[in-house]
Amino acid sequence: MKPSIINSLRQAVGNDIISTDENLLEERRHDYSVISELNDLQGRPAPRPCCVAQPKKTADVVKIVNTCRENQVPLIPFGLGSGVVSGVIAHPDAVLIDMSQMNRTRKIDSLNLLATFEAGVRGSDAEASLNKQGLMLGHYPQSISVSSVGGWVATRACGQFSTAYGSIENMVFALEVVLPNGEIIETRPTPRAASGPDLKEIFLGSEGTLGIVTAVTFSVRWKPQKQSFTAFYMPDMDNGFELQRNIIQHGWEPPVMRQYDASEVVRLFPDHARGEDCLLIMVHEGPAGKVDAEIAECLEIAKDLGCDPASETVVEKWFEDRNHVPTFDEFLSQGVIVDTIEIAATWDKISEIYQSAVASLGEVENIANASAHSSHCYRSGINLYFTFAAIPNDPADMAAVYQDCWRRVMEATLAGGGGISHHHGIGRIRRPWLAEELGQAGVALLQKIKKTVDPTGMMNPGVLIPGED
Ligand SMILES: Cc1cc2nc3c(=O)[nH]c(=O)nc-3n(C[C@H](O)[C@H](O)[C@H](O)COP(=O)(O)OP(=O)(O)OC[C@H]3O[C@@H](n4cnc5c(N)ncnc54)[C@H](O)[C@@H]3O)c2cc1C
Repeated sequence: MKPSIINSLRQAVGNDIISTDENLLEERRHDYSVISELNDLQGRPAPRPCCVAQPKKTADVVKIVNTCRENQVPLIPFGLGSGVVSGVIAHPDAVLIDMSQMNRTRKIDSLNLLATFEAGVRGSDAEASLNKQGLMLGHYPQSISVSSVGGWVATRACGQFSTAYGSIENMVFALEVVLPNGEIIETRPTPRAASGPDLKEIFLGSEGTLGIVTAVTFSVRWKPQKQSFTAFYMPDMDNGFELQRNIIQHGWEPPVMRQYDASEVVRLFPDHARGEDCLLIMVHEGPAGKVDAEIAECLEIAKDLGCDPASETVVEKWFEDRNHVPTFDEFLSQGVIVDTIEIAATWDKISEIYQSAVASLGEVENIANASAHSSHCYRSGINLYFTFAAIPNDPADMAAVYQDCWRRVMEATLAGGGGISHHHGIGRIRRPWLAEELGQAGVALLQKIKKTVDPTGMMNPGVLIPGED
C-alpha cells in the first residue's frame, strides 16, 4: 500500500508537495507531549508516517483528503506540533498532512477589525502582522511562537490574556474547513447569527478528527492605550480565589490573572517568596481611565480581603519569561518525570479539587513536586494548572508513574465536579476519562457526529473520540 498511496498523492498534487525525506518523517512522528518524548528516550519511539504532505493551498488539501479517502489511508493533521496531549502520533500506514506551508495572511481589514490567516500561520507571525497596523489578536498562549492558528482552533486553545479577551472560541469569526468527503465549508462572516447551531463549534476542539481547518478569520482589536501591573500576597489559595472572584464578579477584567500556590512562588519567583504565602499577579490593559479605575478597585478589594500588595517587578519577570518554551529532555534523561495538567471548575468546587489533587499527587512514591496555579478566571469559575515531578527509583517506571499522576488529577477533578481539560484538549492522554465528562449520551452523540462527518474514520484515528482505535 505504501508506494501506491505515495504515487497517487504525487499524481494528485505534484512531487514537491509529497515528501519522504527521512529527516522530515522523523521530525513529524509526534507532538510535544512528554510521554512521546519519554518513549523516544527509552527506546519506544513513535513510528514515522509513510509520507508527509505539505499543501500550499486549500485545493491541495482537497486533493490530499480525496486521495487518502479513496485509498482508505488514515490522515493525521499537523500544525506546528506544540500539542501536549498526544494528538499527533504517526503510523507507518498513515499520511501526515503538515499545514505549515499554508502560511499566508489573506486579509487584514481594519474597518471591521477582521483578519484572515491560512491555518499554518505561526501564532507569533499572525500577531506581528497585526501589530504592524496597530492591531492585536489578544490570543497569547505561552506557545505562541511554536503553534499555528489552525492548531489553536483544533485544540480549543486559550491564551494568557483570556480574562478580558476570551479564549479562541471568542475570537474565531469564520472558518474554512476541508471535510473528510472533500467538500469545503466556509462559515459566513457575520458578527452573530441565529441560523441554527453554530457550525464553527463542530471544528473548535475537533483535534483533526472531523476535517482540516485551512483558514481562520479572527475578530481582532486595536492595541491598548495603557498597560499596568499589580500583584498581591495572600495566606492561602482560598483567600486568592476569593480575591479573584470578587474582582471579576464586580465587573473588572484584568486580562491576566494568575494565582500561584506557595510551592510555585518559591520555584518560579524565589526573589519574591514570602513565607508560605500564595501570590496573585495581574496585567491591566485598555483605555487609560479604565486601567486606573480597575487598579484602584482591585487595591480596595484586596485590602478588604486582607491581601497585601506585592512588588510589580514580579509581574515584570513573568511578562519577560511568558513565552519561554521549556524542553523536558534534561529532566527526563535524569530520571525525572514531569508534566502539567489543566482543569476547570466553578467557584464552589475549585478549592476542594485543588486540595484533593495536590494531596493525591503527594501520595505518589518519590514525588518531588505537586503544585498548582490558576491562569484563567471567569465570572462563574476558574481553571487550575497542576505541575507534577517525580523521580521513580527505577527509570523503567517513569511511564507508569506518569499515568498514575494523570489518573490522580483526572479522578480528583471528576470526583470534585470539575471539567477534565481547560485548554490543552483530549488527544490520547485524556481519552479514558472523556466518557465521564460527557456522559454516555454525550459520547454517543460525539461518535454519531464522527460517523456522519467521517464515515470511513480516516481523520486522525485514535484521538479524542472514545471507542476508536
Ligand atoms: C511550552 C508550551 C506552552 C503551551 N501553552 C499553551 C497555552 O498557553 N494555551 C494553550 O491553549 N495551549 C498551550 N500549549 C499547547 C499547544 O501549543 C496548543 O494546543 C496549540 O493550539 C497547538 O497548536 P499546533 O499548531 O502546534 O498544533 P499541533 O500540535 O500540530 O496539533 C494539535 C492537534 O490539532 C490538530 N490540528 C493541527 N492543525 C490542524 C488543522 N489545521 N486542522 C485540523 N486539525 C489540526 C492535530 O491533529 C492535533 O490533534 C502549549 C504547548 C507548549 C509546548
